[in-house]
Amino acid sequence: MTDTRPAACVVGYPARHSRSPMLHGYWIKRYGLDADYRAEEIPPGEIREFLTHLADHGYVGCNVTMPHKDVAFELSEPDERAIAVGAANTLWLENGRLRSTNTDIEGFLGALDAAAPGWDQRTSEAIVLGAGGAGRALVYGLIERGIGSIHLVNRTVEKSEAMRERFGERVIPARWDQLPELLSGARLLANATSLGMHDQPPLEIDITNMADDAVVSDIVYVPLTTPLLAAAKARGLATSNGLDMLLHQAVRGFELWFGKRPEVTRELYDLLAADIEPG
Ligand code: NAP
Repeated sequence: MTDTRPAACVVGYPARHSRSPMLHGYWIKRYGLDADYRAEEIPPGEIREFLTHLADHGYVGCNVTMPHKDVAFELSEPDERAIAVGAANTLWLENGRLRSTNTDIEGFLGALDAAAPGWDQRTSEAIVLGAGGAGRALVYGLIERGIGSIHLVNRTVEKSEAMRERFGERVIPARWDQLPELLSGARLLANATSLGMHDQPPLEIDITNMADDAVVSDIVYVPLTTPLLAAAKARGLATSNGLDMLLHQAVRGFELWFGKRPEVTRELYDLLAADIEPG
């Protein structure tokens, strides 16, 4: 018998390590939907056929992870966010057309809204560390929210300069040694480098002189509480971590595929947190 339930998947190579099936599976169960979400391990040589004939493979949409993000962007009709960031991670079928978006932007913004409601109203200056793929999504999100000045600190200065070219003069390339002075004026600090991640060099930064109502976001997800977030919590600042962003970025895909806007709850956070950091 063929399975006629609406289904989505995460497509990668490998894909089995992905936490997306656990996350979407939780929501499918919670809302009592007759739907499915699976992991599909598709080798590079087969990805074009798979995405081009997504419906024939039984799917209404998918998440795309490494190494297929570029092909997904190329084969789909990207929305404004995916075009701005130059990468798509969520695809869906709309009247037979394969559409795509980048959900890292709303993942980052949604996590901040939950951690510190109204943060964007208080923030005229923000600092983003990292000008890689994730940094691009964060900077674009801050521009969408109307943040006036975004100081962008990156080891390779050419990349932060390229981001200013791409997004305009609200992006201000800065050096690491300027941080002490920048931190006192900023209401948001977001780390989008891989520093501080398990097996990577530490992120050494002193946040003592940040304002008492500042917010700190670190999108690394292993560990869940990076030394930067621990320092921010010790100061009583609002924080958001990589798992918060991961959960909030998943909301839109679920809604597009299954027609229900799901809620990010404490129970869901704890389920995924226990998988990332068992015991
Ligand atoms: P990427 O494109 O490879 O960028 C890596 C960034 O880290 C670059 O800015 C790079 O600087 C910087 N960096 C790496 N090693 C460094 C070092 N030793 N010293 C100084 N800077 C260093 O990676 P990405 O995709 O943007 O991901 C960045 C981080 O975000 C990763 O930890 C990833 O797991 C996390 N992430 C989380 C989520 C989420 O949902 N929570 C989503 C996406 C990504 P250079 O440009 O100078 O190399």
